[in-house]
Amino acid sequence: MKKDSSSLKIALLSVHSCPLQKLGGEDTGGMSVYIRELARELGSRGHQVDIYTRAHDPRDQQVYYLDTNVRLIHIEAGRVEEINKLAIFPHARDLARNLNRFKRQNNIEYDVIHSHYWLSGLVGLWLHQWWNIPHVTMFHTLGAVKNTVGIGELEPELRITSERDVAAGCDRVIAATKRERNDLINYYGASADNIAVIPCGINLDLFSPVDMQLARQRLGMNGHKVILYVGRINPLKGLDSLIEAVNHMNDADVRLVVVGGDHEQNHSDKLVDYAGQIDHSELPYYYSAADVCVIPSHYETFCLVALESLACGTPLVATDVGGIGSLIKQGENGHILEDNDPERMAHAVKTVLAGKYPKNAARDAVLKYDWSNIVDVMIAQYRSVSSKSLN
Ligand code: UDP
Repeated sequence: MKKDSSSLKIALLSVHSCPLQKLGGEDTGGMSVYIRELARELGSRGHQVDIYTRAHDPRDQQVYYLDTNVRLIHIEAGRVEEINKLAIFPHARDLARNLNRFKRQNNIEYDVIHSHYWLSGLVGLWLHQWWNIPHVTMFHTLGAVKNTVGIGELEPELRITSERDVAAGCDRVIAATKRERNDLINYYGASADNIAVIPCGINLDLFSPVDMQLARQRLGMNGHKVILYVGRINPLKGLDSLIEAVNHMNDADVRLVVVGGDHEQNHSDKLVDYAGQIDHSELPYYYSAADVCVIPSHYETFCLVALESLACGTPLVATDVGGIGSLIKQGENGHILEDNDPERMAHAVKTVLAGKYPKNAARDAVLKYDWSNIVDVMIAQYRSVSSKSLN
């Protein structure tokens, strides 16, 4: 394990989403995984990481020790209960003040703030002024781009304006892809010099191939061909097109397994087994049990599911969104779709089911995304914006 020569103290802001919440619900997905993994890797190298989130459950302690050098800290702002993301906005200033008080009372000095999502970005702007330290931000999704895609609820102007302010007022925006970088420039007028492109990472120890028969036995799956969907269930994810595609295949030997969604109970219908929300640590078995994983999304910023599936050796059929285009070698580890037309999707899935897609061709494509490599580049960004000389 790498140890860095001089350690940083980093405040990670995840105001609206607690990284301890169950994954796969409406609002808990890639960003929570990202923050946990980034913090874990930074902590293992000797950096001190505090993740701040809004207190949302009276049963929670204020401070949890998650991993070596990593704490999760709940800060009160508004009533201590679950509220929707937009309802947090009026409490954002209180959250920043209370966080500042916690820092003062505990005599903590940070080197850098790293905020995640626009609500945390706003809090980051205030802290950046009060603490006089650099502020790095990541949006994870962009309201203006979601609105352009035009599927699902419209994002309010408040979000778009806030994203513009955060992009203009921070020291560095981390974009997950060149496409996100261009979107930041085109939709928000962000300065190109202020954006660094750093792809998302993957935990290759957790996500590695398991023998398909063993995985299926563990999950109680029978001998059908298995098409897998993993993710939140939200109109932008395009699950309806995938269900239509599987319908179109009209193959009694095929089952679609859907992982994620707010419902806890698993249930099945004619074509689909809904597994509900599954613990992240169980997912390697699902990917390994599947013949193909399909990502029918209309919009992704990067898409961790793509990295996870390939890391487990499972080929992908996916729309060309987020970072997926750079992961797939057409015909070797999957197929890229130009859109999520169900007939073309069905055709691509059949091609993969009938073909040979060696596990190592899938996994090799994601080796460079190991968190250790990604964190090297992230630390270089922290250092480049930091006034402190660390070497
Ligand atoms: N996930 C999970 N359990 C579930 C559903 C999803 O652990 O039941 C995880 C999945 O493994 C992935 C993340 O949620 O790490 C989804 O991230 P992605 O970037 O694909 O989509 P996002 O949620 O950011 O739109």
